[in-house]
Amino acid sequence: MNRERLMQRFSSMAEIGQTDRGGVNRLALTEMDKQARDLLWKWSEEIGLSVRVDDFGNIYARLEGEKVDYKPVVLGSHLDSVPYGGKFDGTLGVLVGLELMETIIEEGKTPERPLELAVFTNEEGARFPTPMLGSGAVTGVFTKEHVYNMKDDDGVRFEDALVKIGYVGDSFNRVTEVEAFIELHIEQGPVLESKGVPVGIVNGIQGLSWHSVQFFGEAGHAGTTPLHHRKDPLISSVKAIQRIHDWVMNLEDETIVTFGKIGTASNTINVVSNSATFSLDIRHPDHSKLLSRIEKVKRLIREVALEDDTESLCEDLSYMTPVSFDPGLSELLSNACRKHNVDFSEIVSGAGHDAMYMNRIGKTVMVFAPSRAGKSHCEEEDTSWEDIEKAGKVMEDTVKRLAFSTESVKS
Ligand SMILES: [Zn+2]
Repeated sequence: MNRERLMQRFSSMAEIGQTDRGGVNRLALTEMDKQARDLLWKWSEEIGLSVRVDDFGNIYARLEGEKVDYKPVVLGSHLDSVPYGGKFDGTLGVLVGLELMETIIEEGKTPERPLELAVFTNEEGARFPTPMLGSGAVTGVFTKEHVYNMKDDDGVRFEDALVKIGYVGDSFNRVTEVEAFIELHIEQGPVLESKGVPVGIVNGIQGLSWHSVQFFGEAGHAGTTPLHHRKDPLISSVKAIQRIHDWVMNLEDETIVTFGKIGTASNTINVVSNSATFSLDIRHPDHSKLLSRIEKVKRLIREVALEDDTESLCEDLSYMTPVSFDPGLSELLSNACRKHNVDFSEIVSGAGHDAMYMNRIGKTVMVFAPSRAGKSHCEEEDTSWEDIEKAGKVMEDTVKRLAFSTESVKS
């Protein structure tokens, strides 16, 4: 791949919605998003790709293969950002995908399989409040009615915003099946950098489960109710949080717990409240292990209530199943790393990505590039071009192996 050309396109794209401190403001289906889409469309046509858009505004740029009815090899990510976000998140996967396609075109050989570049709408969930909306819609996770009627903070409907920027295409244009989907993305965390490794091969995306935990006790006066007479639900909450936290620390596995919110019903300085609530976010990359962690956490909560003579309730709010990516594709990538002497590490993604839903319609894998200081979703987001070039090299090798063969990868 041509690093100079990639860097030039990257800096032109970063100018669209650029912030004072070098980030981008490019919320989905805004004028800035339109400009980014228009530029990508123009570049794609210039290098000879045929570009189409589906009814969710997802864009696809296609290089035809010898076997036109074979399932395509698809690269891509998203161009939208969070408010005051970074210029690498999403954009990197799109522009490296375009660069790899141009590299293949320049070499003059037609691939066996079609190659496509995909740009998905509203990945961030920052404007329309569901992340990975475009990829979820096209893979059957969300209905068209749900997506079209979703509103932003100003009450603007998704469909109206899509019409306004001129990106409503035909449902006939949707991606339906893929031979392989490969998404390059920045890690958005500190793991690769701390290991000093330039490439992460992503095995999957961890699952998560959200709960609201409540303890019930007895209300009392802060001055007149002696401590040993109290049934203080906040004390039970704090004890439960500490106990869950210590248990997870001792597990020393991939389980992660977070208690982001805590409060009492009275929320008053001189009152023992009759109830207290905290939130519980628990994550693990394996479905059955995640379920067993949730059961254990619920037992710990009940234990505390029994000891304190309070009552507890653990309500389930939402659950996202862990995703495992294709081992055959991971192996192709790791072989490419060895061939090019590129150090790599296997990694699990802590964040959701379009690849999570694309996994439903074909073999999928992700490649991570290190994030400086693990920073992301902020203007400081940064990744070195040396690392990007290494990831690009490994992907180029893998994409060529897939696109120039009529055989399927073995999972
Ligand atoms: Zn992203």
